[in-house]
Amino acid sequence: MRAQPPASHFIDGTYRHDDTAPARPDLYPYDGSVIAEIREATEAEIDAAFEAAVAAQKIWGAMAPVERGRVLRRAADLLRERNAALSELETLDTGKPIQETLVADAASGADALEFFGGIAATLNGEMIPLGEDWVYTRREPLGVCVGIGAWNYPIQIACWKAAPALAAGNAMIFKPSEETPLSALKLAEILIEAGAPPGVFNVVQGAGRVGAALVSDPRCAKVSLTGSVPTGRKVYAAAAEGIRHVTMELGGKSPLIVFEDADIENAVSAAINANFYSSGQICSNGTRVYVHKSIHDAFAERLVARVANARLGDPLDPETTIGPMVSETQRDKVLAMIEKGKSEGAALLCGGTSEGPFVAPTVFAGVTDGMSIARDEIFGPVLSLFSFEDEDEVVNRANNTDFGLAAGLFTRDLTRAHRVVARLQAGTCWINTYNLTPVESPFGGNKLSGVGRENARAALDHYTQTKSVYVCMGDTEAPF
Ligand code: NAP
Repeated sequence: MRAQPPASHFIDGTYRHDDTAPARPDLYPYDGSVIAEIREATEAEIDAAFEAAVAAQKIWGAMAPVERGRVLRRAADLLRERNAALSELETLDTGKPIQETLVADAASGADALEFFGGIAATLNGEMIPLGEDWVYTRREPLGVCVGIGAWNYPIQIACWKAAPALAAGNAMIFKPSEETPLSALKLAEILIEAGAPPGVFNVVQGAGRVGAALVSDPRCAKVSLTGSVPTGRKVYAAAAEGIRHVTMELGGKSPLIVFEDADIENAVSAAINANFYSSGQICSNGTRVYVHKSIHDAFAERLVARVANARLGDPLDPETTIGPMVSETQRDKVLAMIEKGKSEGAALLCGGTSEGPFVAPTVFAGVTDGMSIARDEIFGPVLSLFSFEDEDEVVNRANNTDFGLAAGLFTRDLTRAHRVVARLQAGTCWINTYNLTPVESPFGGNKLSGVGRENARAALDHYTQTKSVYVCMGDTEAPF
């Protein structure tokens, strides 16, 4: 097996697993070969992870923030040094092309560790004068935070959660998706090497059952989930039982609006990035592409011509631009949605086919707002084209969805760009580009797409609680 870790979990600074626990093969999506065998965490292992995290958090939370920051920045350097090996591992686990994982996965994780390492020491409270008396506030860690990841950006998701959590003095127990269990273990190794005390970052494996056990444990102070809306509902409800803090990074059905004055070539590039990168398995994808009636056909023609240049193939080949779907289950879900698109009357401009684990990049035109492919998250390489006539109409149609993760628009008219962005119901908007998510920019959803924000200084608010300390400088009065 090409990627077998020493053991399945990383708890209290070491690899371990129970040999009697059920095992699951971890597959390379391209050829179905077994690259590792991973065991599900037992109750005793979950308990051990909490014990380790509770103990480690006391030490870690008491360290000077600048020291914590130094550890995170060292971890960022190690991630960058090992980017080639980590990218190959991520490609084996997810099936994403190596030309993507080399720039978008561990590299983005390293950015998060560097950014939060850098600002760890700036997490200050306030001094509030009250005449002679005064109040000061402390930004305190929450305790042990649980992170639960999706399978599309495994190490990036682990870093986006661990970096702000650890910077603020929390410990974390992370459960990767059972589809992609490997790279979070490498992050755990790297954090230890960078100087984090054992137990500050633990990884336990398993399906939803393990995630549910983590969230309902009384020692869990917060859960940050990246996943689908149905899972978000369950995890949010479980967290509510214990009034735990939550961050929910959930699904999307985001619009990309192309106005009549847009640069068509750039807008086509954005539509390609917004639908076919990672075989379309990206939460913020702009899957509803609204193009002004006057340029709709020219746009569609260029889009289809350029999609013909996509190179499906071995994800480890640097020339490959489209990899397989992560699993047969995901491929079948996407193909079922393509069938729905056809049967509900959308016109297939290209793609719609599947060979083995691959789904060809697919473009539908003539899509109407009520069709399933216009309303439901597909999470695959399927783009829907819509035609519109005026600004008010397209804003209303763009917002007519239960999701609110992201949105993009293309125009050369500066005032229109900002006017429209202000009306779009989405957590992240792009003007004249799409899907750029630098760590400096807060990221998260409105409506069903989620609660809370990752990245930027905003993320620290979700990993700290404020303590107010009233300081009395005089005598204390009492009525009797
Ligand atoms: P998913 O099926 O919702 O699973 C997400 C994670 O939750 C997995 O680790 C899963 O475990 C775990 N889980 C399932 N049931 C649980 C429960 N009852 N309690 C605790 N944990 C539970 O999502 P996915 O299929 O992995 O990922 C695709 C979805 O993620 C899409 O909807 C996509 O839009 C969303 N996503 C959102 C963002 C964002 O930042 N907004 C980013 C990436 C992806 P197992 O799967 O291992 O059983």
